[in-house]
Amino acid sequence: MTHPLSPVTFDDDDPRARGRAHGELWRAEIRELAAIRAELCIRRAAYRSLDEVDAMAARHLPVLAAELPEMSQELLGIAEGSGVPAARIVVLNHYTDLRDIQPADLAPGAGEDGDGCTAIYLSGPDGPVLGQTWDMHATAAPFVRMIRVAPRNGTAEVLCLTLTGCLGLAGLGRDGVAVTINNLTSTDARVGLVWPALVRAMLAEPDARAALARLQAAPLSSGHHYMIADGRDFFGVETSGELKVLTQLGPKAAHLHTNHCFDPVLRGRENVSRQTTSFDRLNSATTLYLQQRPRDLEGLWRMIGSHDGYPRSICSHVDELRGDPSASRTCARLAMELWSGKLRVAPGCSRDDLPLELELAGFASKRPAAP
Ligand SMILES: [Zn+2]
Repeated sequence: MTHPLSPVTFDDDDPRARGRAHGELWRAEIRELAAIRAELCIRRAAYRSLDEVDAMAARHLPVLAAELPEMSQELLGIAEGSGVPAARIVVLNHYTDLRDIQPADLAPGAGEDGDGCTAIYLSGPDGPVLGQTWDMHATAAPFVRMIRVAPRNGTAEVLCLTLTGCLGLAGLGRDGVAVTINNLTSTDARVGLVWPALVRAMLAEPDARAALARLQAAPLSSGHHYMIADGRDFFGVETSGELKVLTQLGPKAAHLHTNHCFDPVLRGRENVSRQTTSFDRLNSATTLYLQQRPRDLEGLWRMIGSHDGYPRSICSHVDELRGDPSASRTCARLAMELWSGKLRVAPGCSRDDLPLELELAGFASKRPAAP
């Protein structure tokens, strides 16, 4: 049987054709997930109608076209291939940020639920590893996929954890740039760059410094924490809609992050839900790190599968706690070995462990030299 996260390759040189192939392959899934996320924008944010959600999403299309034309073409291709309007593909991609944007005539809502993600970077004798849980509304779980974007002209290759209809959530590029993301809930959210497009652009950069520069120059929409690493450098950047702060630095250190800001200025721009498990997960990750002193992919993998403090654990099960399938749970786990280009991914909970090991075809020749 094929592994559920066995990567699908999109190899057209033309980004529009690549998107169209993606859209056609997962037509039904894209329609379904776009509808789920548009509805959640109404339930979990201040939008009053689907028209209002689509109108706000549509305002992101010109920003994407101006900032990242290739990614814009790929997104429009996904819309064409799936038969779902482009604005709704923006809703599917940019859901967590759209939720934070308040229609102008409404008071800010009280961030009902923080979707999670626990990101961990650590280093050992075989070099650094970077990974994360991807925690989202549990109804997103059936839509998680791995994609390999590898144009036939050989100009680029990325392996991405993603969702049907989404450009990419986190992953590893051919030149060794790895990126993970944590959602942050900002109070200064605005129309900006569709964030999965930015992740893809960062993964395509030649090194972590260039990916950092790409992030620093991007007109963001709402908050995320990005971990960027390439085996030589590590950067952890917290953002809100308007601000970006480099909060973590240093390739030899260990870095942990969940879904609240460390930076004191950014703390004034976030709306952390009272129900959030972010602090519990950060405490668990800190304790596990100190107890286990993980130094490699196996150690990282154990950490991101931990049920200490269940259901508010790193492998998160908030949906079971609340009996609400739209509450957060760990939908996937991803770990990347930065010197080898090896990547391990698994769907869902660590108890049904189904890891899949992948490697970038073009990575070996680009392997960063060991310091
Ligand atoms: Zn679990």
